[in-house]
Amino acid sequence: MLSKNESWSLNKLINERCEGIMTNQKVYYGKDIEVMFNSEVCIHSGICVKGLPGVFDLSKRPWVNPDADTMEAIARHIDTCPSGALTYRRLDGEYSTKKEG
Ligand code: SF4
Repeated sequence: MLSKNESWSLNKLINERCEGIMTNQKVYYGKDIEVMFNSEVCIHSGICVKGLPGVFDLSKRPWVNPDADTMEAIARHIDTCPSGALTYRRLDGEYSTKKEG
């Protein structure tokens, strides 16, 4: 789980990003992969920021940098997001967020 400060930072970021926006999903465009984040679904487990801090960094704007690691590493890590708040689309044609089952 996130610390109190990390949780506060994530909530602040979410509030800033969602202000006046109809959808709570934001897309971060990389050269090999697009990362989508839905703030309404996030349960603040902190897995994203702890596991790939170079890609998911709450102290930076934007907080997601899809070019900071390999497409495969980012996709694998997003597949561990417990809530489904993070999803992705690989630009090599191999679709996207791993589905259960
Ligand atoms: S891993 Fe998923 S649920 Fe956890 S903080 Fe990141 S986006 Fe939210």
